[in-house]
Amino acid sequence: MEENRKKIFKTFALLVFCILIISYVYFLFYDKENISEVISEDCRVEKGGVVLSFDDLSVEGWYAAHLDIFEPRGVKATFYLTHLFKLEEDSESLEKLLQMQDYGHEMANHTMNHLNLKEFLLKNTLEEYLEKEVDSVYELGKFLGLNLLSFSYPFGVGTENADMLLLEKYSSVRYTGTLTSKSNRIFTDNICERILSAGSLDFRRGVSKKDITEVLKRAKNENLIVLMYGHSIAVEEPSNYSVSYEMLNHLIDEAERLNLEFFTVSEVFGGN
Ligand SMILES: [Zn+2]
Repeated sequence: MEENRKKIFKTFALLVFCILIISYVYFLFYDKENISEVISEDCRVEKGGVVLSFDDLSVEGWYAAHLDIFEPRGVKATFYLTHLFKLEEDSESLEKLLQMQDYGHEMANHTMNHLNLKEFLLKNTLEEYLEKEVDSVYELGKFLGLNLLSFSYPFGVGTENADMLLLEKYSSVRYTGTLTSKSNRIFTDNICERILSAGSLDFRRGVSKKDITEVLKRAKNENLIVLMYGHSIAVEEPSNYSVSYEMLNHLIDEAERLNLEFFTVSEVFGGN
């Protein structure tokens, strides 16, 4: 009887030991491999696309382009807003932005007074910048019905410290760059990336239709997301800080031809 009990105990102990070893090996190899697979699969861009954005507060031109081009052609863009306090006294412009947001364009934060961060930091702290220039815009936006979840630096001037603190609250921060197919900064194959850079479409940069086509071709061929930005939108004669209807239509024609979709910035980045 005693012998039998010992036998049962030994078998039981052996069984427990085996289960522990199997679990350990599973945890060590199988599970880890699975996790890394999920992360890389989640972050990798599966198919090329375009994130188009506009900065500052040129509501009239943006809204006209929304009615004339974006809505009829099913294109969504991101609008980084500054001087938001002006909207408190301009209900007509606010109404237009809200309508655009309802359609599916993204409204985002481009600070309250459009200051150069590095110049601001000569006499003030980063905490002051975040409070006065950034958080105040988020709060005012919320009050006005605008949901500002992404951020871009005025003049494309930021710092690493600011990036870190901004990313605690914003899904991405955006810098600026040159729009050419050779600029690696404006392309990405990683949707987990949160520090971004967009190439300028502004008239003053002298971007040609061919440049735009080349940039889109690279996004298509290498399965990359390309980021582009401008300021105001002009029906005809573009000024230094504007993009013409002709360029915008060319951009959309080429994207359609290459089967590249347009996304808002937070549709792609910072969600993981
Ligand atoms: Zn700006």
